[in-house]
Amino acid sequence: LRVTLTPIHRREHGISGTIAVLQDITEQERLEQSRREFVANVSHELRTPLTTIKSYAEALDEGAMEERELGQRFVGVIRNETERMIRLVTDLLHLSRLDSNQAPLRRQQTNVPEMLEEVADRFSFQMRKKAIRANVRVEDGIKTVWLDRDQIDQVLDNLVSNAIKYTLDGGRIEISARKQETSAIAISVKDTGIGIPKRDLGRIFDRFYRVDKARSRSMGGTGLGLSIAREIVKAHGGSISLDSELNEGTTVTVVLPLMSGGETA
Ligand code: ADP
Repeated sequence: LRVTLTPIHRREHGISGTIAVLQDITEQERLEQSRREFVANVSHELRTPLTTIKSYAEALDEGAMEERELGQRFVGVIRNETERMIRLVTDLLHLSRLDSNQAPLRRQQTNVPEMLEEVADRFSFQMRKKAIRANVRVEDGIKTVWLDRDQIDQVLDNLVSNAIKYTLDGGRIEISARKQETSAIAISVKDTGIGIPKRDLGRIFDRFYRVDKARSRSMGGTGLGLSIAREIVKAHGGSISLDSELNEGTTVTVVLPLMSGGETA
């Protein structure tokens, strides 16, 4: 419900009354509004790198190309911005396929301990560069789960890559799995990073929502990682949640139901 109050002014008497307008904002209007916001966000996210590319190309054109070192730096910027745009468009296409259910799940029996070790291995180089130590901890008895390996890998990649991006050098990351009472498993990615202020937690899974836009951009982020993760987990019938303490660290937990045939053995 939206309430708008308009004071009625009379020249001689000052305020003489108030008009109250009560508007019911329907679900449809809310959807329409979030669609408009999304389009505005996409346009903005694409225009920013395009503007940078344009101005660096102009600078090259106007003489920077003659100075070898400067020229190389500018070309580097153009390449980085282009790569970020490609990532953004790839993420957007992925989201749109998830939105329209065009990404059917290809579930397979997946060995969970192996899957978690492999995600840690994929990021071992990046972690070593920041002297971040990682460990994988899997509760006894967890073996296989029936899930779409490619899609859950993408979820885990997004979470681990965030954990690295938002953790200072020398930090720690723990990737763990444990059984839930309700025939489900919980996979967590926990870091000792910068954390997220309480006031941002409610919107953290929204598309393009970032605590610090400049920081996320400089790390190559698109602001879509967590929203993609949430869609994929939802498609699996699971849920995702995030817990964080500013300057202490963040834990993201994915709960996946054990499908028939997906018993932990
Ligand atoms: P981005 O591409 O910006 O990382 P995400 O959707 O993956 O986009 O995350 C949204 C925002 O949530 C990030 O910009 C960052 O502010 C915050 N965030 C996500 N993961 C973490 C984390 N592990 N620690 C601190 N902040 C995080």
